[in-house]
Amino acid sequence: MNRAKNAPATPQALSKLPLESRNTFGLPSIAELAYEITTPDQLPSLMASILGAGLVWRVLGGGSNVVLPDNLPGATLLMNIPGHEITNSNEHYTEVAVGAGENWHEFVAWTLAQDLPGLENLALIPGTVGAAPIQNIGAYGAEVAEFIKVIEAFDSQAQAFVTLRQEDCCFAYRDSYFKQNPARFIVTKVVFKLPKKWVPRLSYAELAKQLIATPAPTAQNIFAAVCKIRQSKLPDPKIMGNAGSFFQNPLVDASTYSKLLVSFPELISYPDTKGMRKLAAGWLIDQCGFKGYRVGPAGVYEKQALVLVNHGGANAHDILTLAKVIQKKVQERFGVELYIEPNIF
Ligand code: FAD
Ligand code: NAP
Repeated sequence: MNRAKNAPATPQALSKLPLESRNTFGLPSIAELAYEITTPDQLPSLMASILGAGLVWRVLGGGSNVVLPDNLPGATLLMNIPGHEITNSNEHYTEVAVGAGENWHEFVAWTLAQDLPGLENLALIPGTVGAAPIQNIGAYGAEVAEFIKVIEAFDSQAQAFVTLRQEDCCFAYRDSYFKQNPARFIVTKVVFKLPKKWVPRLSYAELAKQLIATPAPTAQNIFAAVCKIRQSKLPDPKIMGNAGSFFQNPLVDASTYSKLLVSFPELISYPDTKGMRKLAAGWLIDQCGFKGYRVGPAGVYEKQALVLVNHGGANAHDILTLAKVIQKKVQERFGVELYIEPNIF
């Protein structure tokens, strides 16, 4: 793996660093101290000094799943570890090791250019490779966990590097061991295992519709179709700040689902693998009339009610105030609690 050469053992502290351009919501935020992490070797001494000084700390990747406060105290580790390489290949699968700071979408595109299909349904998800396992990113019927072999991370509790196997990571729907243990691990490398046997995944109606005129779609066709749908449905963070879906799709048990169906026969939902029912949060919010709704500079995206947007000049308080209004209304109307998906720092 090509790691940054001659990187200092301890990176220079950047004091009072503005993060407005480092989070896709475009929220104003000043990091008290920030450190560019370009190689795992920087972490042991840096973390010893951060922990020794009793500072709070967190990792920031592409900033596409966070709500940043006006002032971010303590230390912010800016994840920039580069590199990707094929480390193993046999008749069944190909393994690829990737630095945590690599851009996710560029990595997906690179795998397809190497004729390594599998990740195409996860195209155009913003952010870094290192963040992908944190909430087990998913889209169009695929989840990153299915393709992970091991993860290398620095464990701040043990103050040592650890290697976690896929089965150790407690991956679940938009969840993982890392998410359950915030401010503990710094993911430095993800090793993917991409099966040679490839089966297209077209279970999502919109994706199938997009490819209706393509009888035997290739992974490249699916990649292009996913990109096209996403570009037409989601706001481009460079133009309108957002963090993708702001709420998780709620999972309810069979009895709650049956009761809801009596009152709302048109309810949009899908079976979950663990016997629960997954409700489409966007539908619940839309039914409350929130599409295009605004509270000051914070708003609900007019094409997709699950996405909150920054119309310009919003801060974390504005976004969270709007989120509370939506949560309250959905609770009143459906008796369902909506949980915020992005990480609130
Ligand atoms: P950040 O936002 O920087 O961080 C997210 C969390 O991960 C934070 O808690 C941070 O501390 C932690 N973290 C980041 N890097 C590391 C690391 N190396 N080690 C330890 N912890 C780390 N998500 C989906 O699941 N599916 C989608 O389809 C999807 N679509 C999106 C579309 C848009 C337009 C946007 C803006 C977001 C979307 N997201 C989606 C959410 C987001 O892109 C993903 O969660 C992504 O993985 C976040 O990556 P990031 O590098 O930006 O992480
Ligand atoms: P959509 O296709 O309009 O579907 C609405 C919801 O229904 C989705 O959240 C999806 O759940 C669920 N769904 C649809 N078809 C399904 C099926 N065949 N089986 C199981 N569940 C199904 O959703 P969208 O908003 O345009 O997003 C498309 C995909 O991109 C979704 O997978 C979504 O998760 C992902 N996405 C995620 C984010 C994010 O920030 N997390 C942002 C944008 C898009 P799932 O969400 O579980 O897939």
